[in-house]
Amino acid sequence: MAGFYERIGRHRPRPGRGPRRWVFLPYDQLRPDHPLLEGPPHETGVVYVETAAKPARRPYHKQKLVLLLSAMRHDALERARRGHPVLYRFSERWYDGALDEVRSEFGLETLEALAPAEAEVRPPLQSLAWLPLHPNTLFITDTDCYPSLFPKPGSRLLERFYRAARKTTGLLMDDGRPAGGEWNLDKENRQTWRGDPPVPKRPSFEMDAVTREVRDLVEERYANGFGTSAGFDWPVTAEDAHRLADHFFAEVLPHFGPFEDAMADDEPALFHSLLSASINLGHLDPLDLCRRAEARYRKESAPLASVEGFVRQILGWREFVRHVYEEHRAEYAEANALRATLPVPAWYWGEPSGMRCLDRTVEQVLATGHSHHIARLMVLSNLATLLGVDPQALNHWFWIAYVDAYEWVVTPNVVGMGTFGDGGIFATKPYVSSGKYIQRMGPTLCAACRFDPKRSEGEKACPFNHLYWDFLARNRARFEKNPRMSIPLSSLRRLSKTVMDDHHHHARTWQARAAGRR
Ligand code: FAD
Ligand code: SF4
Repeated sequence: MAGFYERIGRHRPRPGRGPRRWVFLPYDQLRPDHPLLEGPPHETGVVYVETAAKPARRPYHKQKLVLLLSAMRHDALERARRGHPVLYRFSERWYDGALDEVRSEFGLETLEALAPAEAEVRPPLQSLAWLPLHPNTLFITDTDCYPSLFPKPGSRLLERFYRAARKTTGLLMDDGRPAGGEWNLDKENRQTWRGDPPVPKRPSFEMDAVTREVRDLVEERYANGFGTSAGFDWPVTAEDAHRLADHFFAEVLPHFGPFEDAMADDEPALFHSLLSASINLGHLDPLDLCRRAEARYRKESAPLASVEGFVRQILGWREFVRHVYEEHRAEYAEANALRATLPVPAWYWGEPSGMRCLDRTVEQVLATGHSHHIARLMVLSNLATLLGVDPQALNHWFWIAYVDAYEWVVTPNVVGMGTFGDGGIFATKPYVSSGKYIQRMGPTLCAACRFDPKRSEGEKACPFNHLYWDFLARNRARFEKNPRMSIPLSSLRRLSKTVMDDHHHHARTWQARAAGRR
């Protein structure tokens, strides 16, 4: 069978002979109903750029590269099949340089595009007079709604944004009031999972010829990338992404809410949707997903706690982090409010630590490029924050390691929510905990661990316990006036000097191990 470049080359017009209108589709705008591609297909050409310059910046997870490249190539073949002329360019240059090459070679006067969501792609394109950028309409909320909600500097809290977004979209609203009477059912969504109900088996996505060709290319060209490409099982087309979403709504959504914060040693994804990568590529429309979830509630086939929880993740968190990031992009590039300086420990790159929760999560990320939210927040980010890992270095790691990571979403989540690196723009207090939280939400992880989450003294005690109290003591002055930190700080004050000396001693040992000094 012909390789991809040969197949797509058949849809390339001869220089000067194509349509007048050309649209550039970046890798995260692969929406089947892309707003700039309405109208007769033969009248609008589509340009894709596969650049070696982006993976040269970071050693991305191999599955992320396979996913992105395969998704772009499938998208190009599909649009060509629908009748669009297609120019698919491989270049060593950054996007502006690559587009300039295409323009000169094919004599295109102008191109158009939606503004890319990733800031590192956007500014170079903004300077090109021949590339008008339209507002990016692939999110649910537009950029005007946010400043009016937060006109003054200070903390940005999700709840305010979320309620406004519910009102504007009408999602889960009855006569101007929240369906069921409450805006947020988070408190119902904290159950521990003990094997029941069983986790439904997900659909699988076998690699086709296009994906296999890309996989071979990634193995050859990006052999030093993070993780493995073996076992790649992500949907690479919008059609397959819909298959995953259909399965989620039919089988998984009813249990999403209650077990949203749960973790399990042998079921890493539990009842999460696994849709983030497909939404972020543009394969799935976030508003459509929220409407589908609501329809399940209206038909009484999913409880409100699950449906509201899912809608809050997409209409709330996903939209909100994007706005927060756009507003604070410059600060986020350097933020490090707690002055944390450790590098990312070798454990995050695959060296065993002996901490089961960490090793299991890293194993999963290496194998798939994914873990669910609580593993990201309360294992990876929590541990890094307690140890004192530089939030920028951790952000770099997350951006590399996850198949769904893009600058606009990973940075506020890691530097803001995950590590308190932004000093409280995003969250009123740091998301830190001892091992007790992990044991409550993931008892099977702790049961398989060589440390004991109930112990708080000595070598056998869970490292999170030593590190938690040490973290509070280290940052006491900073949090003294924060009302949300008053309970942990008053517990800290009650600990004796002997107990605290033991915590400090073991915390220093773990920090030294994390830094590679044994
Ligand atoms: P589900 O639990 O099924 O949630 C449904 C959807 O809600 C997700 O697919 C996602 O689109 C959206 N969502 C939920 N929470 C968030 C959030 N905080 N920010 C943005 N979208 C959210 N998400 C990314 O898409 N890319 C990232 O790089 C990323 N990095 C993260 C780093 C940290 C430290 C933390 C704490 C969270 C991060 N998240 C990121 C958010 C969230 O963890 C993932 O979106 C989610 O785990 C993806 O799995 P899922 O599709 O099964 O999600
Ligand atoms: Fe993680 Fe501590 Fe539980 Fe071990 S005991 S799995 S280190 S929380």
